[in-house]
Amino acid sequence: MGAEQLDRQTLQPRLSVVVPFLNEAATLPALISAVAGLQRQLKLPVELVLVDDGSRDGSCAIARRELQARPELQAVLLELSRNFGKEAALTAGLEASRGDVVVPLDADLQDPPELIGPMLEQWRQGFDVVYAVRQRRAGESRTKRLTAFGFYRLIGRMSATLIPADTGDFRLMDRCVVQALSQLPERTRFMKGLFAWVGFRQTAITYNRDPRQRGQSNWNYWKLWNFALDGITSFSRVPLQLLSGGGVAIALMSMVYGAWMVLRTLLFGIDLPGYASLMTAVLFLGGLQLIGLGVLGEYLGRVFEEVKRRPLYLVRRRWEQS
Ligand code: UDP
Ligand code: MG
Repeated sequence: MGAEQLDRQTLQPRLSVVVPFLNEAATLPALISAVAGLQRQLKLPVELVLVDDGSRDGSCAIARRELQARPELQAVLLELSRNFGKEAALTAGLEASRGDVVVPLDADLQDPPELIGPMLEQWRQGFDVVYAVRQRRAGESRTKRLTAFGFYRLIGRMSATLIPADTGDFRLMDRCVVQALSQLPERTRFMKGLFAWVGFRQTAITYNRDPRQRGQSNWNYWKLWNFALDGITSFSRVPLQLLSGGGVAIALMSMVYGAWMVLRTLLFGIDLPGYASLMTAVLFLGGLQLIGLGVLGEYLGRVFEEVKRRPLYLVRRRWEQS
């Protein structure tokens, strides 16, 4: 450890900044100039890896023009063949990066690049992952904050992997961590979970998250819901266990109820009323079975995605400036 720490304090690491983007024409110029500023400020060689996740607003051409206007900035621009989603685009960017330390960044500058300096400090102290924890989420609706809060608590209780709350993809990673991530073969890439699963020496720093500067968030509640399902199903089997637990509980209750009915018939003879309880039982069990099938389906669908073994993303064009 001692020798490695010495290395990190004396060596000038190369920094890769990985930015997946979808329709960010309005913010890309600001982003690229921020990264160029970072290079001057940190006095490190910086490589900018941009991944165009199927934008349809000319973002890619704008990115290229901005990069060409700054020939001093090393850059890779990957154009994916369509929109594969942020998680896949980020994976593409991580795999294309070559720096000794790698930082994924949102194109909307919601993750302040100024934080990379303090993160590097922690890396020099020997940490392999320095993740940023959001303290305040300005400009996000109450509902979004509440659902995010609920989600982190829920997945925290359901999963054995400890996924830190209120952390996005914004973090600084040593090359060894990026290497580890690229060894994970799964198609459903719930990055927050994977980042936590790989382990290594991790530490956190806190910051205030600002509202996005321009453009629209690409997330809506339907996407967030699916994202949450991805997270839960790839890191927890608790829903399946709840199902079998619920089945056992209902079976036990119905046995007690059945015994009571036999006893009652023996004691008081047969009476017919019971339509309401019959209907309730039928509907309740029917509903429960459908929920059960749905939960099974969620897992099965994901198994289906995995066994197809399709690539995570396809690159249409790759452009490089060095
Ligand atoms: N993004 C992407 N592909 C998508 C959706 C989003 O590459 O399908 C990018 C987007 O351009 C941005 C980052 O992912 O750089 C975060 O997206 P956004 O700001 O919409 O998410 P939020 O900050 O609201 O979580
Ligand atoms: Mg954003």
